[in-house]
Amino acid sequence: MPVHHIAVSNKYTPNQRSKRQRIVWGHCLFSCLLFLLFLPAPVFSYDSSANDFKKYMSALEKQISRYGWTDIKPGAIKWEYYRSTKNKNPLIFTTFGNNTGNCVLFIGCVHGDELSTVYLMFKLAQYVKDNPALFKDKCIVIAPLVNPDGFLTSSPTRVNANGVDINRNFPTKDWQTSAIRKWVAKGKNKRYYPGTKPASENETQFQIALIKRFKPQKILSIHSPLNFFDYDGPSSDLNSFEQWLEKMSKETNYLWKRFGYYPGSLGNYAGHERKIFALTLEMPSSDPKYGSEYFHKFQPSILKFINLPLDGGLPNVKIVNSEK
Ligand SMILES: [Zn+2]
Repeated sequence: MPVHHIAVSNKYTPNQRSKRQRIVWGHCLFSCLLFLLFLPAPVFSYDSSANDFKKYMSALEKQISRYGWTDIKPGAIKWEYYRSTKNKNPLIFTTFGNNTGNCVLFIGCVHGDELSTVYLMFKLAQYVKDNPALFKDKCIVIAPLVNPDGFLTSSPTRVNANGVDINRNFPTKDWQTSAIRKWVAKGKNKRYYPGTKPASENETQFQIALIKRFKPQKILSIHSPLNFFDYDGPSSDLNSFEQWLEKMSKETNYLWKRFGYYPGSLGNYAGHERKIFALTLEMPSSDPKYGSEYFHKFQPSILKFINLPLDGGLPNVKIVNSEK
């Protein structure tokens, strides 16, 4: 650099020059240290979150091989995550299709011990990824494992690491008056504990954030082992939706019923209060060995659910043509 060259060329002896260079380097080092000291925190949290993600994926792969799910490869899918659980497991989701409207949201493993649901959701994500032409004009959001803390243990639990049932923790209008009261009245079963306050759990906030961000028209949450389809949503189009479910029920030889909803449940929050078509698929068993069998059994109705054309803004959404 010319300026540097002039500064050191004539004015100083070699000794003075090296002393001066040491001072300049000293200043430089000091400024660098100061800069590092005041670097914004996210740089560090980004690194630790990447580390957490690696740990999460390896724990997940271990569990996947434990259950013998040899054809599930979560590492092959591009996941997004902005939140994590108490045990620092990232709350992952992925999106497919070019459409930004009419989204369908899939939610799996809200209860960590419903093992077969995890296979079904990862398999679905893989299937959609491998068949992009079928889904290019759709908006599909898949959150395959909402309760990783419950799932990634040697004895998986329904509740999360705080002992809360995520499907009783949504901030529904009846939460304050009924959630704890009903839980106490039913004998304080720890498997159904709704938490100390509505939306207290990261896993609940995660699902709320997905609903707010993608504004899905349809939600399919997968549970087990109650063995039926259950629907919550707008009553304005109840007849045609019931007819559609009746058809699905016949095609899959699977019962459907209106199971009702609870204070703090997703069906109550999304279906009842926000009028989103919220379907719950309760698989017959939580046993991980049935994952593949269930995927083949329910794949056609899942694809029909994705393709079910709805029209009109909330809360007046209607099925426009159930034959498509
Ligand atoms: Zn469940």
